[in-house]
Amino acid sequence: MENFEKSFTQQEPVPEIGIERAIEIMRGGRLHRYNVNQGETSEVVTLENQFANYLGVDYCLACASGGYAMVTALRAFGLQAGESVLTNALTLSPVPGAIHAAGGKTILVETTDQLVLDLDDLERKLGDTSSRLVLISHMRGHIVDMDALLAILDRHGASLIEDCAHTMGAAWAGRSSGTFGVAACFSTQTYKHINSGEGGFLTTNDSGLMARAVILSGSYMFYDQHTAGPAPHVYTDIRLDTPNCSGRMDNLRAAILLPQLSCLGDRVSRWNERYHAVASELDGVDGLKMPLRPPEEQFVGSSIQFLVPGISTSQANVLLVTCKKRGVELKWFGAAEPRGYTSHYSSWRYLGTQTLPQTDQVLHSLFDMRIPLTFSIDDCHLVGRIIRESFNVSLSS
Ligand SMILES: *Cc1c(COP(=O)(O)O)cnc(C)c1O
Repeated sequence: MENFEKSFTQQEPVPEIGIERAIEIMRGGRLHRYNVNQGETSEVVTLENQFANYLGVDYCLACASGGYAMVTALRAFGLQAGESVLTNALTLSPVPGAIHAAGGKTILVETTDQLVLDLDDLERKLGDTSSRLVLISHMRGHIVDMDALLAILDRHGASLIEDCAHTMGAAWAGRSSGTFGVAACFSTQTYKHINSGEGGFLTTNDSGLMARAVILSGSYMFYDQHTAGPAPHVYTDIRLDTPNCSGRMDNLRAAILLPQLSCLGDRVSRWNERYHAVASELDGVDGLKMPLRPPEEQFVGSSIQFLVPGISTSQANVLLVTCKKRGVELKWFGAAEPRGYTSHYSSWRYLGTQTLPQTDQVLHSLFDMRIPLTFSIDDCHLVGRIIRESFNVSLSS
């Protein structure tokens, strides 16, 4: 029996040129984004401009994490204390955490078996709560029908913030993920599409929102150095009215992200080749459902998900254990205790009890696996075969 030997947590190294630049910055001692000589541009500012350019938006702020970008987006939007924000029930803990930190009240929206926001439930809850704001999480890279979503938001006069932690480099019908709402948030945490250990971006075309975000992020009175931000006059009142809640990115992180941004397009193709290699081994397996990927969804296959409707807890455990013995690390969202990076909304007890029967069913049947770029295409076929064979073992258990 073939086993798999590679690590599911092994990312690719930082490009040499980024390492060299980071060392140069350390030798120079100017690590802070505002610690520049007259006339110099800091590494963080260069990165912000390149990311804004890449996405095709006016403004970008680099910050300490994706979660920080979300809190800042919510605050800069003007979220009021106790105001409700609608978001996916299927997401990662930093999302409800950001809403909480910004003083909002999280209202969870059901998930479909295609792993996207249930638009009927969204519309119902927009009506019931008259929320002004939806924070959508493109969880694991699954993108909801964005045209339908925008039409609903339009009918209710609600605004959109996108959590693009899993969709950097993705698009819906040719339009980049992160350009559909008033603002978008990205993460550069180790397992995302570009890796600085920790980090994030907030992007927008709204000058007032960005000016508030820049001051919030801890820019002291150096806002004029933000060339990927609005013109200095936009800050006239905002700089005095907005608190400083430090969460800046530093030059070392920016230095190692810059060359990764340049090769993001290449990474996206390599991820998708790997995704399709795993998927080809799982397609057509009886009882195992791959979410449909609509033609408009130009996703990044940095992870893969499948559902086994009706799987029992003991069968799910057999599947996990059999895979694990053969070197394949699957995650199951149906486990009673959330572990590692899996999450179940019921473990965010601070939100209060919310009842989402459809999401419960989806989570119970949902398996998830990360696809590191350090896996070859052959590796991905092997991993897919191991999952398929382990699945058959679990069914007969
Ligand atoms: C990683 C992630 C974030 C942001 O996480 P940080 O660790 O704060 O950078 C947000 N949403 C989702 C769905 C994520 O996976």
